[in-house]
Amino acid sequence: MSLIVQKYGGTSVGSVERIKNVAKKIKKAVDSGNKVVVVSSAMSGETDRLLALTRELSARPDPREQDMVVSTGEQVAIGLIAIALKEIGIDAVSLTGWQVPIYTDDAHTKARIRKIETGRIQEELEKGKVVIVAGFQGIDSFGDITTLGRGGSDTTAVALAAALKADVCEIYTDVAGVYTADPRIVENARKIPVISYEEMMEMASLGSKVMQIRSVEFAAKYGVRIHVKSSFIEEEGTWIVEENEEMEKIAVRGISHELKESKITVVKVPDKPGIAAKLFRALGDNNIVVDMIVQNVSHEGYTDISFTVNKVDADFAEEIAREVAEEVGASGVERNDRIAKISVVGLGMKTHAGTAGKMFEVLYREGINIYAISTSEIKISCLIDEKYAELAVRALHEAFIENQETIVVE
Ligand code: ADP
Ligand code: ASP
Ligand code: MG
Repeated sequence: MSLIVQKYGGTSVGSVERIKNVAKKIKKAVDSGNKVVVVSSAMSGETDRLLALTRELSARPDPREQDMVVSTGEQVAIGLIAIALKEIGIDAVSLTGWQVPIYTDDAHTKARIRKIETGRIQEELEKGKVVIVAGFQGIDSFGDITTLGRGGSDTTAVALAAALKADVCEIYTDVAGVYTADPRIVENARKIPVISYEEMMEMASLGSKVMQIRSVEFAAKYGVRIHVKSSFIEEEGTWIVEENEEMEKIAVRGISHELKESKITVVKVPDKPGIAAKLFRALGDNNIVVDMIVQNVSHEGYTDISFTVNKVDADFAEEIAREVAEEVGASGVERNDRIAKISVVGLGMKTHAGTAGKMFEVLYREGINIYAISTSEIKISCLIDEKYAELAVRALHEAFIENQETIVVE
């Protein structure tokens, strides 16, 4: 008998009809002799709706109270799935994060799972029930409800699969797997049959939101096999597994894009030691994660420092940058919310040269200016104008994936 964790995303449980469909899928897994633990997101649009309500009352809602509000979406979904299952003869019980319990740290709105107590789930499974757990939420050491950051139900599912030593963690979503680029933007995007944890982590952190990054980190750490597949069509999806040698034969596995960042520039900063330290310490002290950083070559003792942050942190980051700018005698702060980060990702870049040059060439051919570049062993990212994002993704997909010059057979 296998133990399967199945996670259903917002679109998959987006209506009563769809919840009935999910119940049928769960029944099928049970009828095949499996024990099943289900994790569900809120119905599609619900988390956004709840967040918007908090924002109507406050520009920066209290994080504890925000979690209290937005965690309710999942509670509705799990109750509905349990009702739908009972209706077709499958015994089921729904559990919120605190009922499990799933313990997290107290970083409200972006909490990390620390520990899962599996006793209650095991008991219910022994009774022959399907256990349906609310995704995205947990409880901290003060007994307060926390949430795990947008897309966090993926992490609930993978963490549960690790804690329960499940045979597989199935992620059911609205596309048929992980593709070489967002299939909603690139018509010719291809489903990737098998991808390494490392590549998936990189793609997720660069904007391919099909999996939340922390879920893939968890999977890599505990060796959880993930199968990403469609809720609507029955077909093999994408397996996310340990890297193997075959995988390095392809230089570029996928193209990711991210529209959720803002660029902030501190203009005409005196070019002397300690200023970058002051700026980035202030941002760090306020829990703001900085992504790309560029410092221009100095001119007559002055330089510009640009950095990118998530749009949700941009107002606060700008405020901090203005304070520091004034303190150090910079001439001002500029902000651009209309930027995009476009990245090419692949394990094969470790061993094959030339990807960066080719990427810049493709962008140049399309007349796209690059504001900043960052690289790691397995990715290259360029910051460009938001209006060129789709064009850039399509052109890079064509160059690196559709025209398969980069597949190296050794
Ligand atoms: P869920 O609600 O099921 O968690 P998400 O909206 O979080 O679904 O993630 C699925 C979406 O991820 C897809 O609809 C797709 O637009 C987007 N996506 C972005 N990049 C990729 C990619 N490389 N492969 C597949 N989907 C991607
Ligand atoms: N409902 C949450 C969100 O919209 C969590 C999730 O969908 O994974 O971000
Ligand atoms: Mg998601």
